Amino acid sequence: MKSYEVNEIFFSLQGEGVRAGTANLFLRFTGCNQRCTADTHGFDCDTEFETGRPMPLPEIVAELRRANARCSWVILTGGEPALQVDEELIAGLHEAGYRLAIETNGTIELPPGLDWITISPKTEESEIRQRVAHEVKYVRAVGQPIPQTVVKADYYLISPAFDGLKLDPATLQWCLDLVQANPSWRLSVQMHKLWGIR
Ligand code: SF4
Repeated sequence: MKSYEVNEIFFSLQGEGVRAGTANLFLRFTGCNQRCTADTHGFDCDTEFETGRPMPLPEIVAELRRANARCSWVILTGGEPALQVDEELIAGLHEAGYRLAIETNGTIELPPGLDWITISPKTEESEIRQRVAHEVKYVRAVGQPIPQTVVKADYYLISPAFDGLKLDPATLQWCLDLVQANPSWRLSVQMHKLWGIR
């Protein structure tokens, strides 16, 4: 049976984006096709995505149920989940009763059937292959301008770069100014870091 490399499965609240504050299961896949650093992207990647273990679909569903049997939303994340998410996984999780959100950097076109797509680009716009989403979210540090995005989305979000768990007031102010000058964008703060949850 086919297996997926899974870094971890856990239950928490979504901390950012339009769905912030909602309860979700997180299915975090191993591996990423980017290496984001402060020098190249304005922030250092704070996600461990190197480790993992192979899990077939029934084992993934069993562990999701163990994490929280009453939660019906699963966020597919990573690393970069699009390296592994396929139609078989989407169909299997839908059959198990789940609705599926994904958080992707947009460099790989997604299979059909996902219920909520968040793209958080980390590359040149020309490298973005998934160009339709429910929300598109750009991390911004002081000095980085409003994006000229190629993504067509329902919601356009600016997310201030954190330094670990800390949000520098100057970074927040920079992003507030960006949104005030560009009202089709909205602010999305990584609230889970302020709430002290994962
Ligand atoms: S794309 Fe996301 S997971 Fe991958 S290195 Fe960048 S911040 Fe980390």
